[in-house]
Order: sequence, then C-alpha cells, then structure tokens
Amino acid sequence: MLFKGIPASHGIAIGPAFLLKVEELRHARRSLESPAEARQEIKRFQDAISAVKHDLENIADSMGDVVEGRQILEFLLLLLQDPTIIKEVKHSILSGMVNAEYAVSTTLHGVMEKFNVMADPYIRERVADVKDVGRRVIEKLTGTEKEALKNLEQPAVLVAKDLDPSETAGLKPGQVLAFVTDMGGRTSHTTILARALGIPAVVGLQAITSEINPRDTLIVDGIHGHVIVNPTKEELKYYRDIRSRFQEAESLLQRMNPGPALTEDGVRFELAANIELPHEVELVKKLEADGIGLFRTEFLRLIQEKGESEEDHFDIYNKVAFEMLPKPVIIRTYDMGGDKFRTGLDSGKEANPFLGYRAIRIGLDRPAEFSIQLRAILRASVHGNIRMMFPMVTHVEQLRRLRDLLKLVKNDLTARNIPFDEKMQVGIMVETPATVITLDLMLPYVDFVSIGTNDLTQYTLAVDRGNPKVADLYDSFHPAVLRQIDTVVRLSHSRGKWVGVCGSMAGNPLAVPLLIGFGVDELSVAPSLIPDVKKMIAVVTTHAAREMAEKSLSIETGLRVRALVHSYVIGKYPEILLDENDWKTGG
Ligand code: PEP
Ligand code: MG
Repeated sequence: MLFKGIPASHGIAIGPAFLLKVEELRHARRSLESPAEARQEIKRFQDAISAVKHDLENIADSMGDVVEGRQILEFLLLLLQDPTIIKEVKHSILSGMVNAEYAVSTTLHGVMEKFNVMADPYIRERVADVKDVGRRVIEKLTGTEKEALKNLEQPAVLVAKDLDPSETAGLKPGQVLAFVTDMGGRTSHTTILARALGIPAVVGLQAITSEINPRDTLIVDGIHGHVIVNPTKEELKYYRDIRSRFQEAESLLQRMNPGPALTEDGVRFELAANIELPHEVELVKKLEADGIGLFRTEFLRLIQEKGESEEDHFDIYNKVAFEMLPKPVIIRTYDMGGDKFRTGLDSGKEANPFLGYRAIRIGLDRPAEFSIQLRAILRASVHGNIRMMFPMVTHVEQLRRLRDLLKLVKNDLTARNIPFDEKMQVGIMVETPATVITLDLMLPYVDFVSIGTNDLTQYTLAVDRGNPKVADLYDSFHPAVLRQIDTVVRLSHSRGKWVGVCGSMAGNPLAVPLLIGFGVDELSVAPSLIPDVKKMIAVVTTHAAREMAEKSLSIETGLRVRALVHSYVIGKYPEILLDENDWKTGG
C-alpha cells in the first residue's frame, strides 16, 4: 500500500512502525475557591515554565553543532518565556479563577487561532511550535510526561499525527529510522529539524496513522514523499539497494579524485553513470561523471501513480536532461519484465520470464502506451543532450518497427509544432548473442550501441543472472562473452558507430583494463563505483590495456583472464583488491 505525502527530509528508511500517541492540547476546567488557591496555581505555572525551560535547554545542548536545531530550540525558549502569553495566562487564572492547565490551554488556543488565519504559511506553521511548548507546560503541570518514545525497544519508524519540534530534536538518528506524520508542511520546525538531524521523513500524509498497525513494515522514501506499508519483496529489494547507495554517497565523495578520467598515459576516457531515479543526478554531478550512460526508466513506475501520464515522464526527463547539460543522458525505454517490475502489466505467469514478454517486446505489442514514453523523451530532447536507447532488441524487424513508431511520434509532434531534437541519437543495447551475430544488419539503424553485459552473460551462458545455484557459472569474463565484446567493438567502429558498456562488468575493476583494451568508447557504472573505476583507469596505459585484451581472447577460462589483469594491477593499485576473493568473481 502506497501513501503519498510531502518529502520532508531526504533519505530512505526501512523498518517496523512505532505508533506514537500524541495528546491533544486541551485540558478540563477546575474552578478555584479562593485567591490563595489562585496564587498557588500561578506558582505551579511558573514552576512548570522553569522546568520546561530546563528541559529545552538540555535538548539544545544535546544538539551539539546542529545549528538549525539550536536555533529552533532557542525559538521555542523565546515562545515559552513570551511575556504577553505569560501575562495572559496569569490574568486568566486570576480573573477566571481557573486552574493553570485550563488557563494555559485556552490562552494558547487563542494564539493558535490567530496564527491559523494568517496568510503567511510560515506563520501558520508556527502553530506547531505553540502547541509544542503548551503541551510541555501542561505535561509538567499534570505530571504526565510522555513515556512513549522511551518505550522504543528497537530502531523503528515513528508514526504520529504530528511531532513536536522539541520532540523531534530529541530523536536519536540510530534509534528512529525515520518518521511519518499526518500533519506537517515543508517549513515546519519539525521538518527542518529532521533534515538537520539527517532523519528521513515524510509529512502531510493526512490519515496515515489510521492505516498503519504497530510493527507493520514501512519503507519511507523521503526523496519522493512516499510511504509503502508492508512492501512486496521486489519493493524491499529495490529500496534496500537505493538505501545503501544513499548511505554510501558521503564516503564516496571523500574518496573521489577530481577531474576527468584519464589513463596512465593521459588518454581521456569517458566514464558515465547509471541511474534509476532522477534525484541521483545530484550525486552524479558531484562525482563529475561524463554523463548518464543508462537511465533505467522502469523504476519510475515505483514513484509514479498508476496511470502515469506523458507529463509525468516529461517532467522527469526534462529535469534530468536540463540538470546534466551539456553532458549526454541516455534514456533507455522501459525494460519491464524478466526480473524487473511488472506493475500494471497483466501478462500472466510465464514459465521463463527472461525469455518472455519483456522490454521492447511489450512496447511493440502496445504501441499506443509505448508512444507516451517516446513522446516524452522526444519532447525533453529539445535540450540537445538526450539519447534514446532500446533494450533487448533481438530481431532486425523489431528495429524497423521501432524506427517507424518513432517516426510516427516525431511526425505527430511536428504537426503540433512541438519542438524536439531532430538529431537525437538512437541506440540499442547489445544483450543477446543474436544481437551480436546480426549486429552488421542492425548497425545501419542506430547511432550507437551499449553492451548490457548482465543480460549478455546470462543469455550467452544460459545462466539465470539471479539464481544463486548457478552463480558460479555466471561469468562475464568467460571467453564467449569477451569475444562478443571484441566483435561488437570492431564491427561498430568499422561502421563509424560508438560503443558503450553499461552492464555491471563496466564497474568491475578487473574488467576495466580489458574493456579499454578492446576499444570501448564509454563505460557507464553505478555512481558508487565511479571513484574506484576512475582510479583503475588511471593506473592503466592504453598500450598495456590493448595487450591484455588481446591476450585474454586466447585464454581458456574467465578465472585466468582475471588473474592476468590482477597480476598487472596489484602492484599499482593494491587498495582496490584487498579482498582476496574480489578478483575471483566474474559478474
Ligand atoms: C544489462 O543487461 O547489462 C543492463 C545494463 O541492463 P539491466 O541490468 O537493466 O537488465
Ligand atoms: Mg539488461
């Protein structure tokens, strides 16, 4: 079940739900009998203020160098000691002869009503701050301090109607994985604090508290403002992957060598990034990648509502292309099926999904739907840096049909005076032996090819890429795969077409010298691998790379090929191969 709210603080968290009950800021009236009793109430009120002041100061101290946190706590302290409010509460006790709790709650409700009708959203958001301070004072008066958070036994995702800023400030990032609330907006102090503390958060979910049960598993996607309750295995796998990438980003930037990728002998090499979601562009830019070599669009299905529109697609492609300017962005059309999401596709169960209804097979079967994506990509191509790539093309006639469909879409755009890049490059992925063997027939239809070694290895060796039982047979360094890469580069270059590699092999440090040696023009790898691949490129000369690649073609096994590269680089770049087994894996 997916809920959409306001992305308040970036990051991904996965964990059990912990429901936090928040008391309303209301308190029953009790009439006082005598002026002495009223004076006693005023004293209780003043004591409560001092106690809350003490608590808030403690929280402020615990914020260390989280500047935003300290500022917010200072604001709460000012509010707590506001002379006008204090005067009004005292007056209410004395003139109304009512108990302190009631005086505090009515006075603060009056303040909140005034804030609530203000046009300025910033002031409206301050209602939460008033409530926060008021609740703390009342808790002191009644001796009912909230224990709930202390009952948190294991790291969890906090689910609440609302969270007070001071309460948020007290959250421990390790213990509270994320929080999601019914209320809240972008500028609330709770939201600002979540960002300062680095706790992912989605707010403004309206009624999520009534939909979640204790210990439900939640995925909190603070990037898009999504909360998934009791996710599927696929969703879990996907978000775990994204989460670890997010966590890696920081240390990654520290490890990075600035500047372009250069071989040891100073030859510039194109190193691009694979992305799955638009926000990754930020990291890709910081990593100074030479572009996006593979934008896997099928994952957008996860962040879009059902019945996604051309506008949804366009907004994303347009933003990514614009932000990456002038560097190229290769958008791959949907590659649904196989091991990937089938959301929205009622294709029935298949005995061999990897050999079944997937990628452009679906697109060509449903041209009207497919055209939505094509139109959006074309519209975004006005920036001039978009390239379009089709996955899993195995038959030349598919390529002809794709070309015709693209032409139809282009004609339609032209007829409607919608601009696009007439010269947008169009390429295909090389992912099957059929594509390699008939590449000479396919090349006339494309501007470039990108080798998808994940699938190419799977289809060449007849080894399911996700089946652990046969994982030891899955080897992208197998001679059958290496020879195909060599063939693809030679043939493509002879026809003036460029070649990229965007499968995982491109990010395997031991494969990098070989791929350079084969003459590949571009490598595209997961952003997290860019620093290491860049370093690897820097320790290889083009001459040595060529020699190793040539030699590899006559070596019998993948393991020996890796040993060959390993012996070359181990002296030059030992840090990358610390793990004894690193060089033995062939993915
Ligand atoms: C590949 O097959 O190598 C590839 C890059 O595509 P995907 O992993 O998305 O199937
Ligand atoms: Mg593939």
